[in-house]
Amino acid sequence: MKTEDIPKRYRKMYERAIAGKLSAKQAIKCHCIHCFGWKASEARKCENTSCPLYPLSPAAEALRERQNSPEEDLSGNVQEQD
Ligand code: SF4
Repeated sequence: MKTEDIPKRYRKMYERAIAGKLSAKQAIKCHCIHCFGWKASEARKCENTSCPLYPLSPAAEALRERQNSPEEDLSGNVQEQD
Protein backbone atom coordinates (compact mmCIF):
# COMPACT_ATOMS: atom_id res chain seq x y z
CA MET A 1 0.00 0.00 0.00
CA LYS A 2 1.29 3.42 -0.92
CA THR A 3 1.17 5.95 1.88
CA GLU A 4 -0.05 8.60 -0.55
CA ASP A 5 -3.15 6.46 -1.22
CA ILE A 6 -4.13 6.75 2.45
CA PRO A 7 -6.26 9.77 3.40
CA LYS A 8 -4.09 12.29 5.16
CA ARG A 9 -6.00 12.02 8.45
CA TYR A 10 -5.11 8.29 8.75
CA ARG A 11 -1.50 8.31 7.51
CA LYS A 12 0.09 8.87 10.91
CA MET A 13 -2.02 6.10 12.46
CA TYR A 14 -1.07 3.75 9.61
CA GLU A 15 2.63 4.56 9.88
CA ARG A 16 2.55 4.04 13.65
CA ALA A 17 0.80 0.69 13.13
CA ILE A 18 3.37 -0.45 10.58
CA ALA A 19 6.16 0.62 12.95
CA GLY A 20 4.64 -1.44 15.75
CA LYS A 21 3.93 1.65 17.82
CA LEU A 22 0.20 1.03 18.30
CA SER A 23 -1.49 -1.35 20.70
CA ALA A 24 -3.05 -4.44 19.15
CA LYS A 25 -6.50 -2.91 19.56
CA GLN A 26 -5.41 0.35 17.89
CA ALA A 27 -3.77 -1.59 15.03
CA ILE A 28 -6.99 -3.56 14.53
CA LYS A 29 -8.93 -0.30 14.43
CA CYS A 30 -6.54 0.93 11.73
CA HIS A 31 -7.00 -2.29 9.78
CA CYS A 32 -10.80 -2.10 10.07
CA ILE A 33 -10.86 1.49 8.82
CA HIS A 34 -8.67 0.39 5.91
CA CYS A 35 -10.98 -2.59 5.33
CA PHE A 36 -13.84 -0.14 4.75
CA GLY A 37 -11.98 2.12 2.34
CA TRP A 38 -10.66 4.42 5.05
CA LYS A 39 -14.17 5.30 6.24
CA ALA A 40 -14.23 5.01 10.02
CA SER A 41 -17.98 5.56 10.24
CA GLU A 42 -18.55 2.59 7.92
CA ALA A 43 -16.06 0.40 9.78
CA ARG A 44 -18.16 0.90 12.92
CA LYS A 45 -21.05 -0.75 11.04
CA CYS A 46 -19.18 -3.92 10.06
CA GLU A 47 -21.33 -7.03 10.60
CA ASN A 48 -18.77 -9.63 9.55
CA THR A 49 -18.83 -11.59 12.80
CA SER A 50 -16.91 -14.41 11.10
CA CYS A 51 -13.84 -12.15 10.79
CA PRO A 52 -11.23 -13.16 13.39
CA LEU A 53 -10.69 -9.48 14.22
CA TYR A 54 -14.37 -8.71 14.79
CA PRO A 55 -14.41 -9.12 18.60
CA LEU A 56 -11.79 -6.38 18.90
CA SER A 57 -13.14 -4.23 16.07
CA PRO A 58 -14.64 -0.74 16.28
CA ALA A 59 -17.95 -2.30 15.19
CA ALA A 60 -18.01 -4.71 18.12
CA GLU A 61 -17.09 -1.86 20.46
CA ALA A 62 -19.91 0.28 19.02
CA LEU A 63 -22.34 -2.63 19.45
CA ARG A 64 -21.29 -3.08 23.10
CA GLU A 65 -21.76 0.66 23.69
CA ARG A 66 -25.26 0.53 22.21
CA GLN A 67 -26.16 -2.54 24.28
CA ASN A 68 -24.93 -0.85 27.47
CA SER A 69 -26.72 2.41 26.77
CA PRO A 70 -29.67 2.86 29.16
CA GLU A 71 -31.38 5.19 26.71
CA GLU A 72 -31.57 2.77 23.82
CA ASP A 73 -33.06 -0.69 23.72
CA LEU A 74 -31.79 -3.40 21.39
CA SER A 75 -34.33 -2.51 18.70
CA GLY A 76 -32.70 0.89 18.36
CA ASN A 77 -35.69 2.73 19.86
CA VAL A 78 -34.84 5.53 22.23
CA GLN A 79 -36.70 5.27 25.52
CA GLU A 80 -38.11 8.38 27.11
CA GLN A 81 -36.91 9.28 30.59
CA ASP A 82 -38.96 10.94 33.32
S1 SF4 B 1 -13.90 -6.84 11.68
FE1 SF4 B 1 -14.91 -6.10 9.82
S2 SF4 B 1 -13.90 -4.16 9.34
FE2 SF4 B 1 -12.58 -5.27 10.77
S3 SF4 B 1 -11.16 -6.39 9.46
FE3 SF4 B 1 -12.86 -7.77 9.92
S4 SF4 B 1 -14.28 -7.52 8.21
FE4 SF4 B 1 -12.87 -5.77 8.16
